[in-house]
Amino acid sequence: MAKTEVLVLGGNFGGLTAALELKHELNDDVSVRVVSTSDRFVFNPSLIWLPFGKRDAADITFPLAETFAEHGIDFVHATAIAIDPAAHRVTTTAGTFDYDYLVISTGYRNNFAAVPGLGPDGHAHTITTLADAESTAVAWQEFLADPGPVVVAATQGASCFGAAYEFLFNVHHQLAKAKISVPLTFVTSEPFLGHFGIGGLKGGEAMLEKHLAKSGVTALTGQSIDEITSARFELAGGTAIPFRFGMAIPPFVGQDVVKETPGLSDDKGYVPVHDTYQSKSFPEIYAVGIAAQVPMPWHTAVPIGVPKTGFPTDAMAKIAARNIASTIKGEPQRAHKEFAEMLAVCMLDAGNSGVMILADHILPPRKAGVLIPGPEIHAMKLAFEKYFLWKSRHGYVRLP
Ligand SMILES: Cc1cc2nc3c(=O)[nH]c(=O)nc-3n(C[C@H](O)[C@H](O)[C@H](O)COP(=O)(O)OP(=O)(O)OC[C@H]3O[C@@H](n4cnc5c(N)ncnc54)[C@H](O)[C@@H]3O)c2cc1C
Repeated sequence: MAKTEVLVLGGNFGGLTAALELKHELNDDVSVRVVSTSDRFVFNPSLIWLPFGKRDAADITFPLAETFAEHGIDFVHATAIAIDPAAHRVTTTAGTFDYDYLVISTGYRNNFAAVPGLGPDGHAHTITTLADAESTAVAWQEFLADPGPVVVAATQGASCFGAAYEFLFNVHHQLAKAKISVPLTFVTSEPFLGHFGIGGLKGGEAMLEKHLAKSGVTALTGQSIDEITSARFELAGGTAIPFRFGMAIPPFVGQDVVKETPGLSDDKGYVPVHDTYQSKSFPEIYAVGIAAQVPMPWHTAVPIGVPKTGFPTDAMAKIAARNIASTIKGEPQRAHKEFAEMLAVCMLDAGNSGVMILADHILPPRKAGVLIPGPEIHAMKLAFEKYFLWKSRHGYVRLP
């Protein structure tokens, strides 16, 4: 009898974990193939350090082919360009592949169109991909040679607020180290400091207000950016902030191949899923990580997104893999967890210190949620990077 074929699109946090977990579940009883645009695993949380020369690409990536080969997974370095759910077929830049089950873990792309003047052809930089962070490193060196006002922002519709705060704190740390005194402004679409797209945690707003005031950072919340010109961040309310160096986290959207598949996704290209991470439209398709649609529990005056971070991505990938394995074995689906009820665990780096975010649920209502500041969080983040890259490279996805 032919083996069940599982095709995984994307080989980063969600795709790597789902593919390896499936192999752990079913060993040789399943054939797993991963198709990914990137032939490297990229540890995105460390992108915040690239602009300051604290990391380069080699430090935070590893080649996927070897890891997958060691675990009997076929790896195809290609981009999926069409999904045909009726035929169970995906067309890629390296040929066409049929599947019995499909896992979509194609993550995000930057929506630079949301703010004119942002992105590779614009005036402000970003750090949300390896290429973006590398070009921001060049811009930072130019800035150091000729400093002026700095703006760090999270635009309307952004969801990756943690990275914006981390970059802000790291900029402050680097400026102090270089003994450069320039105006530093933080512009965010969050309704209040420390909302983070998860509704905030007790004491977080006051802690951040105090910390930013002490650091001499001017913070503007609830902001929408009309345009970034060569000299100014033009805000919707009419305020214009001059800058020499600007970094803004843009909104994310799903990949076009997902968005263009009729009936598969919402208007942002995210796949509506059950708590099993199975598509609500196509039972053979699962979506995990940033590719999955998650609930948006509030309306804010300026739109913001919900961050789909590494911890829930890992959980979604394991849930999807376990349910596919159960279905292949003819058993009922056994793993369920709503995104909102997953643990929130995140470490924000501040250059030589940091803040740990811990909560029993990503989204309210919560029973517990704390922010723990301190220099030990910086050390923990450094250690976690090494540990996570080691465990992923060796395929030890069942380690915590
Ligand atoms: C700057 C930054 C800092 C972050 N910091 C943290 C942090 O501190 N803690 C934390 O928990 N999370 C953090 N995150 C979030 C974390 O990186 C994401 O949760 C994680 O990357 C989501 O994994 P994913 O597999 O869903 O998507 P991705 O990591 O985006 O991976 C998607 C993969 O799919 C591939 N792909 C895309 N399109 C196609 C296609 N058409 N065909 C085939 N392959 C395709 C891509 O090449 C990529 O390899 C951060 C993110 C950023 C950007």
